[in-house]
Amino acid sequence: MDDASRIPVETPAVTEGVGCHAGAEQLRAAAVAAGNGALLDGFAKDYPKGPHEQPQSMCPAFGSLRVGLRMRRVATILSGSACCVYGLTFTSHFYGAKRSVGYVPFNSETLVTGKLYEDIRDAVHLMADPEKYDAIIVTNLCVPTASGVPLQMLPREINGVRIVGIDVPGFGVPTHAEAKDVLSAAMLNYARDEAEAGPVQAPRGGISERPTVTLLGEVFPADPVMIGALLDPLGLACGPVAPVREWRELYGALDCAAVAAIHPFYTASIRAFKAAGRTVVGSAPVGFEGTDAWLQAIGAACGVSADKVNVARNAFGGAIKGALAANPIKGRITLSGYEGSELIVARLLVEAGADLRYVGTACPRTEWSAQDADWLRAHGVHVQYRASLEQDVAAMHEFKPDLAIGTTPVVQKAKEASIPGLYFTNLISARPLMGPAGPAGLAPTINAAIANKARFDRMSAFFEGVGTGDRAGVWEDTPVERPAFRKKFAAKAAMAKNAVDNGEAVGS
Ligand code: SF4
Repeated sequence: MDDASRIPVETPAVTEGVGCHAGAEQLRAAAVAAGNGALLDGFAKDYPKGPHEQPQSMCPAFGSLRVGLRMRRVATILSGSACCVYGLTFTSHFYGAKRSVGYVPFNSETLVTGKLYEDIRDAVHLMADPEKYDAIIVTNLCVPTASGVPLQMLPREINGVRIVGIDVPGFGVPTHAEAKDVLSAAMLNYARDEAEAGPVQAPRGGISERPTVTLLGEVFPADPVMIGALLDPLGLACGPVAPVREWRELYGALDCAAVAAIHPFYTASIRAFKAAGRTVVGSAPVGFEGTDAWLQAIGAACGVSADKVNVARNAFGGAIKGALAANPIKGRITLSGYEGSELIVARLLVEAGADLRYVGTACPRTEWSAQDADWLRAHGVHVQYRASLEQDVAAMHEFKPDLAIGTTPVVQKAKEASIPGLYFTNLISARPLMGPAGPAGLAPTINAAIANKARFDRMSAFFEGVGTGDRAGVWEDTPVERPAFRKKFAAKAAMAKNAVDNGEAVGS
């Protein structure tokens, strides 16, 4: 244990009973007062908000938690309110993480006196077993970030186990997608320092004989194989996918000829790659035009001759055109999601023949998706960055699609309106999308869903007259609307929210 890590730290009092449903301003102000102003400024720059403050998605920290839980020999500790940790661990296990999540509880006293920091430090020392772990990720959630719990003071490593402390507050990191970037960037920067200081572990499968292209963004497991085939005529190989699944892959990811930002929202990770001198290429090899442009961009970034690039373009162009022709999509579609891959999926849909009218993404505009956004707009698609649920639903009502692809509440609204719906996260983004494999991976699911319209109509006819909203169901006495009560309680709720936002009441 080094001495610096033993310094007790007093953190300012703040923030019990506030969270993502109330009090974000209060938490933000507290974080600034606690010395985290620069951290929040960095988030605001990397993850710009607007047009509205907070996209409606899950707790952002789920993204970074999931990245850590997917890594071999990496332990995870959360520091935050028990309710947040309950929700995060519940969700991570719902999604199949068969791993324990460490938790350091706190109360007002340990938060205010700095004892929480000491408890976290003690927990890290207890867990730092090099037989079991390469790294321990410690994450400050909203309240510890607002209180300035100084994870940066934790030892950088203990017994050879790396300690990575990150702040992932919901009032600073808008989406779970961007939280993945926070952790990925922290690990890439750590690994870059290690690589600059001396020899590091080689990749598990050995060092590639060819220059590699690192893929940035989680992709379907078959996609790196497909991308490897696309790169082969260029004399390149597919490198690791970041976020990585093992610490040693970080070195391989950094040691590349170029980075393909398949998902365009990894702003801090891209900064880490650029700091290592790497060139970054946006968009992805989706559809004929997307793949053609991507191969040329990768070739230019890696200094590959035009002849070699043309070999790949010719070899795969025909195959992709054939796959698109064999897997046409017919029907009007609206699409929205919060994974960050919405624009590349949209391109593939358009190339497959879909009448796509709207694509909404909870992620922000970055230069790495600009090419996709321009292409989509040129094909008559409205592109909405930082899309709100209201915008996604309004688009569905405006365009009356044959299929609404979206988040859970969008799909729910679509089904209520007898419009077939597919969840973007589970059913669309988790498919092979790249090269010739993309059309065959996407079209059958989309076409089967569109063909289900008659079933939705039958269901709507069957349930006709059973009421909606508060009056849904079979009643002896149908509930009577009480607008006066609603008004009164809405006013009370608004007053309570104002009080919390103004810091007048913080008990829960
Ligand atoms: S940590 Fe997540 S769940 Fe908890 S208050 Fe913050 S955003 Fe909400």
